[in-house]
This record gives sequence, structure tokens and C-alpha cells, in this order.
Amino acid sequence: MTSLTGAGEQRGAEVVDEPGGTLPTSDGGERISPSEQTTIQIPAQHAASAGEQRAPLAEALRVASTWTSAHGPIVKKVALGMAVCLVGVAGFAGLRKIADAPADPGAPGNTAQTPGSDSTTPDEAAEGVRRAAAGQAVLQKMADAIQEESKASFLSTIDPKATEFDELARTIYSNLGKLPLATFQLRYVSDDTGALPPDRKSELGGTESWLAQVEVSWQLTGFDTKPARETLPVTFVTRDDTTYAASFSERFVAGQRRPIWALGGIEVAKGEHSLVISLDSQADADEYATVTDRAVESVTKVWGKNWKKKAVVYLPAKQTQMESVLGAQPGTYTQIAAVTMAELDTPLVGAPLRIVANPKLFEELGKQGRRIVLTHETTHVASIATASPVPLWLAEGFADYVAFTAVSVQDESAAKELFKAVRAGKVPKSLPAPEAFAASSAELPLAYESGWLACRLISEREGQSKLVKFYRAVHASKSPTGLADAFRTVLGTTEQEFVADWQKYLKRLAGV
Ligand SMILES: [Zn+2]
Repeated sequence: MTSLTGAGEQRGAEVVDEPGGTLPTSDGGERISPSEQTTIQIPAQHAASAGEQRAPLAEALRVASTWTSAHGPIVKKVALGMAVCLVGVAGFAGLRKIADAPADPGAPGNTAQTPGSDSTTPDEAAEGVRRAAAGQAVLQKMADAIQEESKASFLSTIDPKATEFDELARTIYSNLGKLPLATFQLRYVSDDTGALPPDRKSELGGTESWLAQVEVSWQLTGFDTKPARETLPVTFVTRDDTTYAASFSERFVAGQRRPIWALGGIEVAKGEHSLVISLDSQADADEYATVTDRAVESVTKVWGKNWKKKAVVYLPAKQTQMESVLGAQPGTYTQIAAVTMAELDTPLVGAPLRIVANPKLFEELGKQGRRIVLTHETTHVASIATASPVPLWLAEGFADYVAFTAVSVQDESAAKELFKAVRAGKVPKSLPAPEAFAASSAELPLAYESGWLACRLISEREGQSKLVKFYRAVHASKSPTGLADAFRTVLGTTEQEFVADWQKYLKRLAGV
């Protein structure tokens, strides 16, 4: 997590995963056979912003594999988790750091900004405008070539001496051709003449070379209502009176996100409700699309049809690619199974949402674990949990409620830590506070299990539709008393009364 991360959490539950398949249950979910078990432990990990708008929500899984193959059944303990992090905002901060140096990147409609501000002389300003015009012309040609599907035209914008970049440029061109692009735009934002060191400049040669920040925006047909946006550092070089692009990756700042299609060759699989963009040639993207389709259907069964019913899943091949997509510090997501993020510099409602999976951990999770995580994440997508005032106990409890409704899990496993506490006489005094979801919190499993069973109590007592209505009421509220109002108007109770009922419910479930 970055320093911008406000809080985090972790929680545990166990899922029994039968390698041979699943058994249908009367409630439409799937019960996993207890024979030939794989035990999956599911702690969640969350970190949420203290601010109003939450950024990416991540499903983490800690893989603590214990293999006991001596007596037939293989027991694999996998810990799943969920995290909410401020990755989008961190990316934004990283961008500001570099882009602010030459000019204000936030100024709307600015396509040609000049380097420096106070210290810029009229000559320098004119030079900046000239560079911006030359750079933007190259970018426009690139974007046109993508739309016109003209590979030759696209490649003519690439520096003929940049052999390494030429290879990546070909990959990018091919990748973009695989995506259902509604729009693709490149906008010259700012430049910094001092960004390239002298030795790099001499290596580039030509009459002039410089580094510019370029905003790339792209929208997926049928999936995005607004374009995704990222900022790429583009190196330009002018030789023989022609300006070319020579790199898309110089001077990346930690925390700066990169588009998945600029990280390597992709495969794209389209399901009925899903789009899987995979950097992992070993992974079965079609299978991920199928699982995501099922997750969308599971979420729709609970949440209702009033959402886009679409999910985009990114499947990086390597941890570093996952970090690049998320704009995260190295090692941040080693234990994270998946992250739901808004692919914008600010996590606004309507921002394109992506579920970013960690393929290694997903692989180790097994079929049921993947379904649980993807269903949990898709719930966040449907309910736009990246930009919601819903308290964490409700956001995560509800996502688990949906996931565990789709894939049935034994209470003893799914609420293990909570039952242990209740049996020890430590019945929670209140619904978990945001701090209980902190990554450093020792009460992470309790927090998740508490949120889940609070949601399940509402559903059992009032009906599932009331739970959804309650969630929606809190989500839509603009008032600081939104939660209390929803308790009163939707559930006809107060939080205090509800907590008392919930404590009784927990005791009953735990058998005390
Ligand atoms: Zn979550």
C-alpha cells in the first residue's frame, strides 16, 4: 500500500473446495462437497481512504499452502483477502509530481503547454509551443492510424533508430487492434526539456529530443461509459526534420499507472457479460470470461438488473505487470488476489472499473476460490464501491454475502474467527469500524465475518430485497446520517437495536 492508504483489513473464512466439481443446492448456489476437500482460507484485506471517495477495492489472498498428500485428500490452505486501496489517487499524485513541473496538467483544453511558468522567457515559451505542436502531430497520426487500422502509418511515427521501442510499438498496435475500442485519443499535456539526461539525449541523436507527458484515453465498446485515462511519458526525437516517438516508458514515476496494452502482448476473451484482457499466454482467458460471466449473473440475482451487467478483468502475467497497471509500489500486491480499480486519475462515479487479477494466486486458489473472489469483486463493480459513502462493514459484508450466496460455504469455516471470539465470551460490541479494516488490524478476520453476518441477518430477517434496498439507500444518501436514516426508514430499527439483534444472532449461530 502507498502512504495514501488510509486503512486496511483482513479476514478469514474457509471454503471447502472439491476438485471434482460442485453439487447444486436448493437455493441455486453451489455446495461444495466435503469429500476430497481443499480447504481455502479466506481472510480479506482492505484499505480504504478516509475521504469520501474510495478508490480501488482489492481482493487479496494469502496463500499459505499446506499440502498433506499422505492420506489421500489434498488439503490446500489458501487465504483469500480483500483490500481497498488508494491506488488511483496514488497514480494521480505521481502524475502531478512530474507533470506539474513544467506546467499545470489539470488545465482543461490545454493541448500545447509551455515549459516552466514564472521563469519562462518568451523565446522558451515559443519553443515549448513548437515542440507541443510537433509532438501532438505525431500523436494525432498515431491515434488516426489506430482508428484507420493502418499499421504502416502507425509505424511511420516510430523513431527508426529506436529498435527496442519499435518492437513494443508493434505489440501495442496489435494489442489495440484486439480491443473493442470506441475511442482512442492521445493528448500532449506538457513537456520538460530537462527530463532527459545528456547521455540519453546524445544516444537519441537527432537535432532535438525531449520528454512529454501524454494523456491517453480509450473507451471499450459495450463496457465503458467514460474513457479510461492514463498518462504516458513519451520521448520525442527530431531527425532530418521529422519528429518521431522514441519511447513510451522513460522516467516513469512510482505510482504512475500504465495501460495494460502497453505492457506486452495481450489476449482478449469476450464472454456474454465480460471482457478478459490477459497478458498471460499460459492462462485460459476464455475460462476467466466464463467464470466472470457467472459472477455477473450471481451478482445480478442479488443486486438486480439495474446495472451495466458487465465486468472487465485484467489478467497480468507477472506481479510487476499488476503493479504497473495499478500504479503500485513494488511488492505491494504480492498477497493480493484481485483489485477493483477505477481506471481514471480520480475515482468518480461512471469511471471505467477494472478487476485486476493476480494470476499466480488465482491459479493457487482453485476454481471455487476464483469464483468467490470474482463474485465479491463484481459486487463492488455493480455497486460502484470505488466511489460510495457505504461504510466498509456494509460494502465488504455485502460483497461477501453475494459471493457466499453464489458459492455456499459452511458457517464454521466462513465465520471461524468470529465464532471463536463469541464462544470465548467476546461478542462484538458494535459493527466493525473502518479502523478494524486496517491492514495492520489484528481484527481483520473478525471485521469481515462481522460484516458478512450482519448482512446475512438483514437478509434472513427482512428478506434479501430489503438488504439490497438498505444498501442502495446508504449508497445513494448524501447525508452524514444516511446510515441511521436507512436503518430507520428501510429496516424500521436503529443501529443500536440492530446490533443487539445481531449479537443474539451470532450467539445462536455459535451455539452459545
Ligand atoms: Zn472487497
